[in-house]
Amino acid sequence: MDSINSILSSQKSFFSSQKTKSVSTRLVYLKALKSEIISKENAIYKAINKDFGKSEFETFISEYGLVISQLNLAIKNLKNWSKPKRVKSSILTFPSKDYIYKEPYGNVLVIAPWNYPFLLALEPLIMAVAAGNTVVLKPSELTAHTSQLITDIIENVFPKEYVTSIQGGVEVSTELLAQKWDYIFFTGSVSVGKIVAQAASKHLTPVTLELGGKSPCIIDETANLQLAAKRIVWGKFFNAGQTCIAPDYIIIKRPLKQEFITFLKDEITNFYGENPKESKDFPRIINTKNTKRIAEMLKGTNVVFGGIVDETNNYIAPTIIDEPSLQSDVMNEEIFGPILPILTYETKEDINRIITNFEKPLSLYTFSNDNKFIEYILKTYSFGGGVVNDVLIHFGNHKLPFGGVGTSGMGAYHGKHGFDTFTHNKAIIKRGNCLDPSLRYAPYKNKLNFIKKIFKYFT
Ligand code: NAD
Repeated sequence: MDSINSILSSQKSFFSSQKTKSVSTRLVYLKALKSEIISKENAIYKAINKDFGKSEFETFISEYGLVISQLNLAIKNLKNWSKPKRVKSSILTFPSKDYIYKEPYGNVLVIAPWNYPFLLALEPLIMAVAAGNTVVLKPSELTAHTSQLITDIIENVFPKEYVTSIQGGVEVSTELLAQKWDYIFFTGSVSVGKIVAQAASKHLTPVTLELGGKSPCIIDETANLQLAAKRIVWGKFFNAGQTCIAPDYIIIKRPLKQEFITFLKDEITNFYGENPKESKDFPRIINTKNTKRIAEMLKGTNVVFGGIVDETNNYIAPTIIDEPSLQSDVMNEEIFGPILPILTYETKEDINRIITNFEKPLSLYTFSNDNKFIEYILKTYSFGGGVVNDVLIHFGNHKLPFGGVGTSGMGAYHGKHGFDTFTHNKAIIKRGNCLDPSLRYAPYKNKLNFIKKIFKYFT
């Protein structure tokens, strides 16, 4: 295998050759990538299923379908997105024509996690290529089948000096991070995000960090409880809870708790049957290490549903926990598995005490029909993004930027926001040589009052 050094230096030369600046070249490759992915559709379902038992349906709606839709969007809009944009000129620069030029950063590094192994590797890669960059992708070492397939797909479409996938774990990642990149896009845990930010700071490399956190789900007395339970069961146990924006825990108005738990139990059984282990729709935990980590969280808690752990098969049943303390393990870190703790509140102060116990979450969900309450929650708390009366679906609209705030991340992407992430906006003013007002030139005598008037009236 070529060394990381030699791959990066070949990508630097390729970028310098200006070939990636051609929009038609980018389109050729994006179309080739789309055909290659379409030809591998079944292989993608099989690889992800082998990695952690995810169903074809879930892989289609949360990975394959989204990747194809991002490709379609980029292919359709690329010419327009990448054109210089004319903006109104300012009286201060008159006479002029003012533009924003769309410039690729150059050599981009994308580091991907395992939980949506196809989507979270391919989507940033597509937008980085669309924006005119070269890319080195490091897919997750925990999804061996999917990462190999992604590597094959990339090798079949791109020359190495344009886009390449380098597989490996922490050592490879560390070596990649030691290089000088023009942009780093990282999706993963908060702790590794800090390592990435530190490595990037050595070269002042801009980064997007798509991280995680504890995303709350608040339910008040005006909510449609049965529908809320159904939607929350879907979003929490999708991908077996291994979703960065899954509702991590519930905060529900105290008198509603028992009825809500009954609805949750019914919906879990409706979705996955009496024994979810036998359901083809309920995935496994990614590996034994994570199964043990999640199982450990159950110790000493009041499990009111599920709680079954089969470590040898990396299975954890959809589980509900009643009122764990804020100091318990399950409330101390992002759960990232199929355990749903239910906390309760009486007053807004109770909600505040719980939410402010944690760092700013990636998502926040509010179930309510009281607009005043909804607006209060949306405006009081800082979080990456969210949904009112549902969960997860803000991920599905490419017009909305997707990203965290505080420790849940920095920067955002999806659709055109992704193209913009990998693009430097170069401010350009074009001037003619005919008019050249003398106002700005020395000597300044008798000019200050006039210039003050211009500032007052026109700025
Ligand atoms: P992770 O941070 O362990 O790994 C992510 C990537 O970083 C992998 O490619 C891995 O090889 C690499 N890596 C691991 N340790 C490293 C180190 N010490 N130095 C350099 N690189 C290293 O995360 P994960 O377990 O793959 O994913 C789970 C986490 O990702 C969760 O916290 C989840 O919330 C978060 N996540 C966030 C989003 C988002 O869009 N915000 C999406 C998915 C997952």
